Amino acid sequence: MDTEPPPPHVLIFPFPAQGHVNSMLKLTELLLEASLNITFLISAKDHDRLARFTTVHSHLTRYLGRFRFHVIHGLYEGPMDTDEKLSVMIADSLPKVAVPLLRDLLVDSHVTCLIVDGIMGFPIDVAKGTGVPVIFFRTISACALWAYFSVPGLINSGDLPFQGTNLDERIVSLEGMEAFLRRRDLPSFCRSDLNNQTLQQVIGVSRRTTEAHALLLNTFDELEGPIVSQIQKHCPNIYTIGPLHAHLKARTLSKLTSSNSLFEEDKTCITWLDQKAPKSVLYVSFGSLVTVTREQLMEFWHGLVNSGKPFLWVIRDDLVLKHDDENKVPYELEEGTKKRGYMVGWVPQEDVLAHPAVGAFLTHNGWNSTLESIVEGVPMISWPYFADQQINSRFVEAVWKLGLDMKDTCDRKIIEKTIKVVMEDRKMEFIESADRMARLAKETVNEGGSSYGNLNRLVEDIKMMGVGSK
Ligand code: UDP
Repeated sequence: MDTEPPPPHVLIFPFPAQGHVNSMLKLTELLLEASLNITFLISAKDHDRLARFTTVHSHLTRYLGRFRFHVIHGLYEGPMDTDEKLSVMIADSLPKVAVPLLRDLLVDSHVTCLIVDGIMGFPIDVAKGTGVPVIFFRTISACALWAYFSVPGLINSGDLPFQGTNLDERIVSLEGMEAFLRRRDLPSFCRSDLNNQTLQQVIGVSRRTTEAHALLLNTFDELEGPIVSQIQKHCPNIYTIGPLHAHLKARTLSKLTSSNSLFEEDKTCITWLDQKAPKSVLYVSFGSLVTVTREQLMEFWHGLVNSGKPFLWVIRDDLVLKHDDENKVPYELEEGTKKRGYMVGWVPQEDVLAHPAVGAFLTHNGWNSTLESIVEGVPMISWPYFADQQINSRFVEAVWKLGLDMKDTCDRKIIEKTIKVVMEDRKMEFIESADRMARLAKETVNEGGSSYGNLNRLVEDIKMMGVGSK
C-alpha cells in the first residue's frame, strides 16, 4: 500500500536582527498555513527575546509538530548600528558558527529546500553538492537590492566613486532610476571608499543572488514592478510575495496572530492614541538599530514640540549615544511633551500605524516600517540612517509620492516645517496617494492579486522539489 509522502521540509535562516527575523517569521507562518514543515534557525539571543516578549512560541506550536526553532549558540550579540559591525557579523561571526551547523542539518534533516536571508552568501557554498536548492530571501526593497547589484556597473560608468563633494549630482547609469536618483540616495555604503569592506561584501553577496535557485522579495509588483523587471534580467526566478505582514493577515483572517518583537511592547500608547482626533498624531520611530547623538535628539525634540502636533515617539533604551545625565531637558520641551507628546520604549507598531489617530510617520525607512506604513495608508517623513534606507526614502518622495525626505539634515526648523507641510499644507495630497497605494497593497495579497498568486506558485514549486528528491 502506498503511504502518503511527508510534507516538504523547509529550513529557514534569517540574519539575526529585528527586521529580518520579523519578516522571515511571517513567511514561515504563510508556509505553515500551506501545510509545509519548517525549521527556523534563530540566534540564542533572539530566541530568548521572542520567548520573553511575544507569544510566538505557543502560537507556532499550533501547527501540530510541523514547526520547530533550531537555536544557534555562540553568535556575536553586541549592537549592529554601523556598517562595520554589520559587516563583521556577516563575514565573521555568522559563518564561523553557522557553516558546520548548516552542513549537519542539510545532511541529517531531510531538507527539501533552504530559504536563507540573501544578506549571507555562504549557505550557497554549504549546500553545494547536497542537492538541496537554496532560495534567497531579501528583506530589503527591490530598489535597494537593484542598487546594490548595480554597484559594479556604477564603478564602470564613472558614477562611483563620487568625484567632488556634491551629493545632489545625478546618478545617470542606474537603469530604471536615471530620472530621479542623486548620489545622496544611493545606499550609504556607496559614500565610502570603494575598498571599504562593507561595500565589497554588499556587492559580492548581491551578485550571488544569481547563483540561488530563486529569489523571494517582500514587495509587490504594483509598488516596484519596473525595478523587479530589472533584477529579473539577471535572476529570472523571482517571487514577489509582499507585503508579508498584510499577506499573513489576509490568509489567516479569523485566527490570532503573534507579534515578532524582540523588545517589550508598551501597549499604553494605544490608550493614549484612543483619546486623539483622527489623523492628528505624528508617530516617530527609527526602528531597532538606529542610534542618534544627544544633539540630534534635541533637534528632533524641538522640531516635534514646535510643530504643535501631538506625537508618539519610540525612544529605545539604546537609541541615544552617550547618555549625559547632566544635560538637562529644557523647560519648553518638558512642557510641550507633557501637553502633546508620549514617549515609550517600544510599541506594537503595526497596531499603531493602523490606529485612526495616526496622521503621519516620521521614519528611518527600514523596509518593514516602510511597508507597514504603506499598507495602512500613512504618509511618511523620512530620516534615513544607513544601508538601504537612503534609497527607500527617495522612492517614498520622488516615485511613490507618499511623503517627504529629510535625509542628510537634522535641524529643528526643517523638522518642524516638514511636519507642517505633510500634516497641514499638503495633507490631502499625501493622504490621497497613501490611500491609493494602501488599496493596491491590500489587493495584491488577496485572491486574484499578484503576490497571492506568486505565493501559491512558490508553495507548488517547493512541493515539486520534494517530489523530485524522493
Ligand atoms: N517595530 C516595532 N515597535 C517599535 C519599533 C519598530 O514593532 O516600537 C518593528 C516594526 O514594526 C518593524 C521592525 O520593528 O517590523 C523594524 O524593522 P525595519 O525594517 O523597519 O527597521 P530595522 O529595525 O531593521 O532598522
